[in-house]
Amino acid sequence: MSALLWAPRAWVDGRWADAVLLRAGADGCWAEVTPGAAAPPQAEVLSAPVLPGLVDAHSHAFQRAMAGLAERREQGEDDFWSWRERMYRVALRITPAQLRAVAAMLYTELLRGGYTQVCEFHYLQHDRDGSAYADPLELSWALADAAADAGIGLTLLPVLYQRAGFNQPELRAEQRRFATDAAAVRALQRGLAASGRPLLNAGVAIHSLRAAEAAAIAALTDGLGEMPIHIHAAEQQAEVDDCVAATGQRPLDWLCMHAAPDARWQLVHATHATAAEIDAVARTGAGIVICPSTEANLGDGFTDVPGWLAAGVPVAIGSDSQVTRAWPEELRWLEYGQRLLRRQRNVCAAPGEGQPSTAARLLQRALVAGGRAAGFARWGLQVGARADLLLVDPADASLLGVPAERLLDALVFASPAPPFARTMVAGRWRPPAAPVAERFAAAMAQLWAED
Ligand SMILES: [Zn+2]
Repeated sequence: MSALLWAPRAWVDGRWADAVLLRAGADGCWAEVTPGAAAPPQAEVLSAPVLPGLVDAHSHAFQRAMAGLAERREQGEDDFWSWRERMYRVALRITPAQLRAVAAMLYTELLRGGYTQVCEFHYLQHDRDGSAYADPLELSWALADAAADAGIGLTLLPVLYQRAGFNQPELRAEQRRFATDAAAVRALQRGLAASGRPLLNAGVAIHSLRAAEAAAIAALTDGLGEMPIHIHAAEQQAEVDDCVAATGQRPLDWLCMHAAPDARWQLVHATHATAAEIDAVARTGAGIVICPSTEANLGDGFTDVPGWLAAGVPVAIGSDSQVTRAWPEELRWLEYGQRLLRRQRNVCAAPGEGQPSTAARLLQRALVAGGRAAGFARWGLQVGARADLLLVDPADASLLGVPAERLLDALVFASPAPPFARTMVAGRWRPPAAPVAERFAAAMAQLWAED
C-alpha cells in the first residue's frame, strides 16, 4: 500500500508551501514531501490545502461519557473537586464494553476534529469492585480496540496512582479502580509495547505529585529508556498549596529539583506557574500540555501562555475531559483566555519573530510539541514522519473567499465546526465505516441508567 498525493498547498516546516507532492510508503510514513512539484499523472490530486494531523496530547476517554452532563450546580458552590466526585461516579461503573464504545465515538470525533494521534492518560485499571481483571490490560485493550475501530493512532500511558493525597497512605474507596505501583505500571507498559498492534505505542504516566510518593516516581522512571512520561502538575491552586505544605515547594519547583525531568517529560496543565518555574522547566527540556477547554470548564485558572512560548518550552494541547474535540477550538480558547485576562488581542503572536499570525504560531508549536509528547522522533509533513494529513474543506462557510495566506487565521478564529473534509492516518483515509455512533448511544443509555 502506498499513496501518491499532490496538494496545491501544504503546511511544511512551519509555513505554507505550494504544489506539494506527497508520497506515503508501504510503512505508512512519508517517503517524499516535495514542494514546487508538478503533479504526476498517477497522483491523486487534492483540491484544497492540506495540514498535518495534530496530536491530542492529553485524553481521558471515559470522560466523553459525561461531556455536557456535569453542567448543573446543585449545591452552594461547584468547582473542580465537586466535578471530580461526579467523574468518579462514571469511572466506578463503566464496563470494558462501554469504555470501548465510548472511546470509539470519542476517537472518531477527534479524527474529525483534526487529531490523528491521541495520548491516553489511562488510570482506570481494575474491575468495578477494585479487584484485578484476569488480564491486567483488559481496559487498555478496550481503548486500543476503540482506537483501531476509529483508525486513530494511540499512545497509551498507564498511570502510577498510589494515594489519595499528600500524607495520605492509601487511595479512597472511590479510587479503587485506579490503584497501581511502579512495578505494575512498568509491566503494563511492557505488555502494551510488546503487543505489536499497528498505530499503538506506550509510555508511562504519574497521576500527580499528590497521588504518588517520591520513591515510587523514582522507581518508575529510573532506567526507563526512551518513552513519554506524563504527569498532571499544578492544575489547581489547592494542589499547589498542599504541595507547599507537604514538601516546602510548589509542584513544578519540586519536579524540576527532585524528579530530573527531561525532554521525555510532559507536565500536563502547568496552570499555576511562576516566572521562575517557567525558567526552571525550560532548562530541563520538558514540555507542557495545556487543555484550554477543559481548564475553562473546570475553572482551573490561566497559565502564562506567552511566558511558556517565549521560554521555548514545547506547548502541546489536549482534549482532557472531552468537552470539545477539535483542535481549532482548543487553540481559539488558548488565545481567548489570554485576551480576556490581559485585555489585549493576538497575545500569542510574535511579530518580532516574524510570526504575526496567532493561529500559525500556536499551530506550529502544538504540532511539534504534540509529536514529542506522543513519543515520535518525527511528526508532520516531513519524510520519515507518519503519513497523516488533514484535507481542508474549502466549502466550509468560515473559509469562503478568505485569502490563502489568512486561511489558518479563519480556520481557528471563525470556524464553528472542524473545517476538514477528510483525514489520513498512516497513508489511509479515515475513518472506516464502523457503527460507532450506534454502539456509543447504547453504551450511554446503559451507563446513565445506573446513575
Ligand atoms: Zn487529566
